[in-house]
Amino acid sequence: MLTPQEIEEIRREFPILAREVSGKGMVYLDNTATSQTPLSVVDEIHRIYTTSKANVHRGVHTLSQEMTDLQEQSREKIRKYINADSREEVIFTRGTTEAINLVASSFGSRFKRGDEIILTVMEHHANIVPWQLLRDRTGIVLRVVNINDLGELDLNEYASLFNERTVMASFCHVSNVLGTINPVKEMIATAHSHGVPVLIDGAQASPHLRIDVKDLDCDFYVFSAHKMYGPTGIGVLYGKKRWLEEMPPYQGGGEMIAKVTFEHTTYAELPFKFEAGTPDFVGIAAFSKAIDFIENIGIENIADHEHLLMEYTQERMMKIPEMRIFGTAPHKSAVISFLVGRSHPYDLGLLLDKQGVEVRTGHHCAMPLMDRLDIPGTVRASYAVYNTFEEADTFLKALTRAAAILE
Ligand code: PMP
Repeated sequence: MLTPQEIEEIRREFPILAREVSGKGMVYLDNTATSQTPLSVVDEIHRIYTTSKANVHRGVHTLSQEMTDLQEQSREKIRKYINADSREEVIFTRGTTEAINLVASSFGSRFKRGDEIILTVMEHHANIVPWQLLRDRTGIVLRVVNINDLGELDLNEYASLFNERTVMASFCHVSNVLGTINPVKEMIATAHSHGVPVLIDGAQASPHLRIDVKDLDCDFYVFSAHKMYGPTGIGVLYGKKRWLEEMPPYQGGGEMIAKVTFEHTTYAELPFKFEAGTPDFVGIAAFSKAIDFIENIGIENIADHEHLLMEYTQERMMKIPEMRIFGTAPHKSAVISFLVGRSHPYDLGLLLDKQGVEVRTGHHCAMPLMDRLDIPGTVRASYAVYNTFEEADTFLKALTRAAAILE
C-alpha cells in the first residue's frame, strides 16, 4: 500500500495539482476523462523539442536517427508493458477512438450483410459509432448485451447471442461510467469457442490494471496515453499479427508504403502499414516516460490506492439523503457515477466547481447506457494515484453542501 508520504512525493511530480479553482485548492476528480501528466513526461517533451526534434524514418542524419530510436524504444516499452509478442503488433494511433475506427474499417471490410457483431450497453460511443458506420456501409447487424442492477454484464445473454452469423465481439474492459471491471478473459474464451475474434476497449483499464494481451488472448486491445499520465493525441492498437497481416491499410500516405507508382502501390511491413503520415513522434517518445512512471510505482499499488479511496468515498456518499450511485459491482475501478434526488448533474457539477472540485457531468459519451438507466446523465468523480483521503473529504464536504443547496 502507498503511504501518505509516498503520495506526497508523487504529487510533487504534478505541479498542476497545486493550482486553485474558484479561489480554493483544486481537487481534480476527472481522471476518467484524462489524467494529469507528471514532470518526467513534460520534461521529455521539452527536451525533445529543444534538443532532438527531427522527423522519424526518413533521414540518415543524426537527429532523425535519434528520434527514430526514441520512437521505437517507446514501442518496445509498450510491447513489453502489455506483453505482446512483437513490436509489429503495436500500432500507434491518435487514441482509442482512432484505433477502434481502424479495426472497424479495416478488419470490418471482410464482413458481409447479415453478419453480427456483439457489443454491450455500457460501451463508450467510440465503441458504438464506428460499428454503426460499418453497419451503414455493409448491412451488418449489431447485437447488444444488457446489464443487471449492479452494472454488471448479463453473461448468460452474452453467451446466448453467439450464432453462426457472429463475426466479432467488441466490448470495454472497464466501463467509464459504472467502473465495472468486466470478466474479459472469460468473455474472450466464450467468443473464441465460437471462432469469433474480440476487440477490447481498454481505455479505462490500462491506467489501473495490468494488461497482458497474451494471457487475455484478445485479438485486438486499444487504449489512450492521455488517460495513463501520458501525452494527448497518442493511442495504441494492439492486434494479433495474423490479423494485422491480413488487414488492408486504414489510411494511405507517407511511411506506410514500400513502393509507389501511379499504377500500383505496395505497402510497408507491420507496424508501419497502419501508420500513414508523420506520427506524433514526440508524444510517442514521451509516452514511454509515463509507462516508467506507472512501473516505478507499480500498477497494483496504484489500483489498491484508488480502490481504497473509492470505497472510503462511496461509503460516506451513501449517507447523503437521496444519493443514487450507478455502478455498484463488487469488481469495479475507482469511478463513482451518481445523482442526488432530482438535482440536475450540471447544477451539482457547477456547485462543486465553485468549491474547487473538478468532476465531470453529463452522459459521458455513453448515451445508450443513460437510456438503459433511464437518466439524462450523471455526475462522475474518479480517482488517480495522486488523489488523497483529504481530497476525498473535501469532495464529500463540498458534495454535502451542494446537495443541501439543491434540495
Ligand atoms: N472508450 C472508453 C471506455 C473511454 O472511456 C474513452 C474516453 N473517455 C474512449 C473509449 C475514447 O478515448 P479517446 O477519446 O482517448 O479516443
